[in-house]
Amino acid sequence: VDAGAERPTATLSGPAPTQARRHASHKGSYGDVAVIGGAAGMAGAALLAGRAALHHGAGRVFVGFLDPAAGALDAQQPDLMVRPWDSLALEGMSVACGCGGGAAVRAALPRVLAARALVLDADALNALAADAPLQALLAGRSAPTVLTPHPLEAARLLGRDTKAVQADRIASARELARRFASVVVLKGSGTVIASPEGEVRINPTGNARLAIAGTGDVLAGWIAARMGSEPAFEAASAAVVLHGLAADRWPADRPLTAGALAVSYAAS
Ligand code: AMP
Ligand code: MG
Repeated sequence: VDAGAERPTATLSGPAPTQARRHASHKGSYGDVAVIGGAAGMAGAALLAGRAALHHGAGRVFVGFLDPAAGALDAQQPDLMVRPWDSLALEGMSVACGCGGGAAVRAALPRVLAARALVLDADALNALAADAPLQALLAGRSAPTVLTPHPLEAARLLGRDTKAVQADRIASARELARRFASVVVLKGSGTVIASPEGEVRINPTGNARLAIAGTGDVLAGWIAARMGSEPAFEAASAAVVLHGLAADRWPADRPLTAGALAVSYAAS
């Protein structure tokens, strides 16, 4: 994958993205992204995902905080439009939901399911795991959806323990994809990407330097940004490859932090 001049395609098996675009054409040619998250004390996760989406080429990025007392500005990233989550019209947007969501994300989920394209991560997945009516709503959703569980979140969704998920990661990702009619990104070393139709890809990039707080939020932002112009399976695959590649290429003498990763893509 060349992360330079052109928006790269996934090197994994399967069809190429339908719209490979030049970097310079992204601004304005991508749809709006909204990140829904940032419950009390967890604003950082939502801001990371928002910054990540912005730096991955999204045209406009809104951060909808679940905490009503949260601030209205990211001073380091003033081009993020920070709002209370329930003031955003989500229907036409690519939405990444769950980043720092806490228990408050549950109330947002029924509305979030109306998004044009959707990434569910972290506490959105935990809320989903505990809520059968919500699961039925998601399974009936026809618009593109990506679930990005780490093994524990996947275990909760499947009603199993983490060991069982890890014992057969491909089968676990496939089962979740079918059950929720969604693309599933089962994270960790050798991230598995599964489509609802049963197609599976295994990511060869990435390393344990990604095992730090916030990198999952960055990935959710990148996937949401790509879903403005790519099918869900391609958006998820390409974002996962690039996320790992960024870590593989990270200078050995520079700490890898999620904050730096979030803003690394466009500059690379
Ligand atoms: P999360 O579990 O939501 O915090 O996300 C962590 C991110 O880092 C995911 O994209 C994982 O796939 C990635 N990651 C964590 N540990 C490793 C590892 N040992 N090798 C490759 N990727 C990893
Ligand atoms: Mg996470």
